[in-house]
Amino acid sequence: YTTTSNTDVDVHNVEDNSGGDDVIIDLDHGNPAMYEEYWKQKGDEITVVIPGWQFISYFSDIKNICWFLEPEFAKQAIRLHNLVGNAVTQDRHIVVGTGSSQLYEAVLYALTTTDSPEPLSVVSAAPYYSAYPLQTNYRKSGLHRWAGDASNFSTDEPYVEVVTSPNNPDGSIRQAVAKGDKGIRIHDLAYYWPQYTPITHRADEDIMLFTISKSTGHAGSRIGWALVKDPEIAKKMTKYMEISTIGVSKDSQIRAARILQAVSDDYDSISNVNENERFFDYSYNFMVKRWKELKAAVDKSEKFSLPDLPPDTCTFSGQTFEPQPAFAWLKCEEETVDDCASFLRSHNILARAGKHFGASSKYVRISMLDTSYKFKILTERLSKLSSMKS
Ligand code: PMP
Repeated sequence: YTTTSNTDVDVHNVEDNSGGDDVIIDLDHGNPAMYEEYWKQKGDEITVVIPGWQFISYFSDIKNICWFLEPEFAKQAIRLHNLVGNAVTQDRHIVVGTGSSQLYEAVLYALTTTDSPEPLSVVSAAPYYSAYPLQTNYRKSGLHRWAGDASNFSTDEPYVEVVTSPNNPDGSIRQAVAKGDKGIRIHDLAYYWPQYTPITHRADEDIMLFTISKSTGHAGSRIGWALVKDPEIAKKMTKYMEISTIGVSKDSQIRAARILQAVSDDYDSISNVNENERFFDYSYNFMVKRWKELKAAVDKSEKFSLPDLPPDTCTFSGQTFEPQPAFAWLKCEEETVDDCASFLRSHNILARAGKHFGASSKYVRISMLDTSYKFKILTERLSKLSSMKS
């Protein structure tokens, strides 16, 4: 049994319902399976039916720079940002992508179609999302190359810095850190939603990436969107998508629009939906519970530690809380354990090793968004390991 992928996908998903110590729980990838319970109880209300004749054309809105963007999806994405208050949407171009993964490639393409003889350096502060180095380098394009940790990076040349906030893997709130006057920033805001972190301001960056994979949990629809200030960059991103996939599935955009609409509708003043059944209230409470359980399991001893993330007040909910990230960035504190991922693997817990994020192998990243079944086994096992004598 192996996990080889560095993106958040793993095709070998072992699940055994017995729950014994020999059951392997795979929490290596960021599969948002926990959201299924919420959407199941919403029932048929959000079912989308698409007749055979609909959405046959390649085109959606030929007057828009992003001509394959479904207007209803754009409308609902803007509506949700305005409800949550997490991003400025005025004077922005929306580019839709097959997940924000495709948008990352599209932005790199848009930023690097220059005549420069040297590939443009792409950096992000460690620990960084493990997919960035792969996505940056795998085409060996000559346009851009991964240049590692932004914290040690300094240059007089143009470069790209990816600022992921809250960060995957450690949940920290981030600003750009690389040194240089010619940096262009990509803000990956996949986790800037109120179930994970206090919303403190409307992000107002030049290039911002979002995804439904982490906002509502619909990773399988493969829909992400970029809010882009500069129309030339939006045009080049659209060109990239035109060349690679001639647009983005309309069926998926329509389904995504329906889901975003349902989230916003429940917050309308005329809605009679119970507060705890509204999406962000439900998912916030769900994460509170999971983080409480995880902390209770690891706080028993000095064997493990988790990052200390300062609390803040959320402008969306009005509550003050500590971030409750989509991943636990766990450190094995014992001197005898150099490789935390191997240590956990020997206890049938699969988690992604720190080295994939440009960090020490004393760390691992564990998904907090998987099924209740896996999460329960995780906390039971960590609790047992914490109580065991060294
Ligand atoms: N950015 C970050 C920081 C992520 O964690 C992920 C998914 N794990 C992505 C982008 C890609 O998301 P998508 O499913 O939209 O391609």
